[in-house]
Amino acid sequence: MIRITDIIDKVSEYSPGADASLIERAYVYSARVHEGQVRLSGEPYLMHPLEVAGILADMNLDVVSIAAGLLHDVLEDTPAEPEEIKQLFGTEVHHIVSGVTKLSKLRFSSSQARQAESIRKMLLAMADDLRVILIKLADRLHNMRTLQFHRQERKRRKIAQETMDIYAPISARLGIYWIKKELEDSSFRYLMPDEYEKIKALVSKDQAEREKYVETVKNTIRNKMNESQLKCEILGRIKNYSSIYYKMISQRLEFEDIYDIIAFRIIVDTIPKCYEALGLIHSLWKPIDIKFKDYISRPKPNMYQSLHTTVFGPVNERMEVQIRTWEMDRVAKSGIAAHWSYKEGEQFDDRIGRTYAWIQNLLENQENIKDPGEFLENVRIDLFPDEVYVFTPGGDIKTLPKGATPIDFAYMIHTEVGHQCVGAKVNGRMVPLPYELQTGDVIEIVTTKNHQPSKDWLKFVKTVKARSRIRQWIKSQEKDRSLSLGREMCEKAFRKYRLNFNTLVKTEEMEKVVEHFGFKTAEDLVASVGYGKITPLQVVRRFTASAEAEEREQSIFNKIIGRVRKKKPKGGVVVKGVEDILIRFGKCCQPVPGDPIVGYITRGFGVTIHRTSCVNALKMNPERQIEVDWSSQNSETYPVKIRIRSHDRVGLLADVVSNISKNDANILTAKTETLDNKMVHSIFTIDVENTDHLNRVLTAIKKVKHVLEVKRIG
Ligand code: MN
Repeated sequence: MIRITDIIDKVSEYSPGADASLIERAYVYSARVHEGQVRLSGEPYLMHPLEVAGILADMNLDVVSIAAGLLHDVLEDTPAEPEEIKQLFGTEVHHIVSGVTKLSKLRFSSSQARQAESIRKMLLAMADDLRVILIKLADRLHNMRTLQFHRQERKRRKIAQETMDIYAPISARLGIYWIKKELEDSSFRYLMPDEYEKIKALVSKDQAEREKYVETVKNTIRNKMNESQLKCEILGRIKNYSSIYYKMISQRLEFEDIYDIIAFRIIVDTIPKCYEALGLIHSLWKPIDIKFKDYISRPKPNMYQSLHTTVFGPVNERMEVQIRTWEMDRVAKSGIAAHWSYKEGEQFDDRIGRTYAWIQNLLENQENIKDPGEFLENVRIDLFPDEVYVFTPGGDIKTLPKGATPIDFAYMIHTEVGHQCVGAKVNGRMVPLPYELQTGDVIEIVTTKNHQPSKDWLKFVKTVKARSRIRQWIKSQEKDRSLSLGREMCEKAFRKYRLNFNTLVKTEEMEKVVEHFGFKTAEDLVASVGYGKITPLQVVRRFTASAEAEEREQSIFNKIIGRVRKKKPKGGVVVKGVEDILIRFGKCCQPVPGDPIVGYITRGFGVTIHRTSCVNALKMNPERQIEVDWSSQNSETYPVKIRIRSHDRVGLLADVVSNISKNDANILTAKTETLDNKMVHSIFTIDVENTDHLNRVLTAIKKVKHVLEVKRIG
């Protein structure tokens, strides 16, 4: 727990002449007005402004910032009046505190326009006085550290998402990487808790081995540097969890394949020594040349400087090494704050304005640019370099990922526009469909009625929307084909049994058969015959069973549930004390042998079987409940729904499907959706004999590479 004296000690260490009394007075005032308030954690509210001030002191900010940090919530959450703040602490502190208060009132929503507007306000506040943003970042950092006290999961996720979308990029843009990393990791933890825990476990698994590896590498580097009398400090650290995760996803790697989860850093005295050290590293290990980056001669816009190289390390693994001077290291850690050398009375904004071209541009441009959209546009390009901004002929702005094509744009406008797209004009000229959109392009899509999407588009589209719409369309085409094929196969098979498929398909009998196989419509059933998932003979048998129940084939069909049957056992279920009763299975919970079950008497419809855990079973009138059990002799199969969550990769579905069929389970339906974050959600309906069989299938699917979770649902 941080105390005000710790903060004052820290400040007087980095700025000996500072007027600590301002901090003390701000603390006393803050304590008075927040008196009696508590945080969700149960701690006195005062702890929050104190922690925020502590973070600001870690950034070596001036006393005005720290006083403002202590007072940052008083205008919003206490009866304190702005006039009073101005009188007691001066116009500067007042100005910053009201800036922070204004920002706190911003509500980010999913609406892109409103989010853009919020970013604009935030950047304007930054241009006005950077300290407003620095306090806001410190505020968010502490709020993320205590986010677990928020009771609602939805709220936690919303805050984490906002942190990921807005605050982490801003701290990166300001070069304050330690805040960026902490914000990203803490958001990751709340946005994808399972993945976070998984990475955490993986990282800690081989810790001893990894530490040994780090020591070996450091020693090798140290010896090499000593040979050349190059004085340096060498560090090896684990990258943050979220960046490991995104690396796994974006490069489709297993954790075991990612060697460069450790980044090595060499810190030397001067710039020439940086290049000398780089040469020595490259003489030790062969560089992967495409991975070399010289941020010393070409600093990042936020003034970050370093040499980055990736080499084939001691065991031929990819190994990342950063080389920089002590000064560069300081800038990399504190970003914008590092350039703030504390001097009482010096204007913060002027100095930063000179140092940072970006902020300076912002300050200069905001007067010249009348159109707020254009202003926003400029800063967003900087903040989110991986996006492009293009216009519709009507002047509406659309945001797309870098590399997006006219097809992505067309699908963003409307699915039909995408489907019917035959060409595109960019800035008035026709371009090929794989053209990469550039910021500022005006795009006009040329459509033709009844035109159809092409499979080739999948090779170059970038957005999830375009990809999934094209896939959907292809699937529906395939379904049409399977449907006519399936119909043909059924007609043939039925004819053999002297049955007319086209007449039977409209009957109630058919509905029963459809239900038995776990489909919603006869069309789905016929299509899956076309897909080869079930044979036409399987379908025919259901009908012959009802039509010629007396015949000798009868024994085979006894298992069929519903009014078709006359003999025991009934659908594999024994109803206590009742014989010859119609049995149906709840579609809501899809019971399979082995599940604890309960029967429910429905008027005129016999007994419906539910799992005892089914919500519908819990709602049942107890008077209509009846004890039931699975029959011991039972060779039926039962449909059951399962949900699979996995990371996308080539061949994923094929592996899942083959594991299902290897375990003798029929696939009745399959639905798959690829999400923005490269996650795939699939829902399968499969036919199983009992819970043991089901568990066998689930275990097999779990073993498929990149599958995260397999669950029975319903
Ligand atoms: Mn706060």
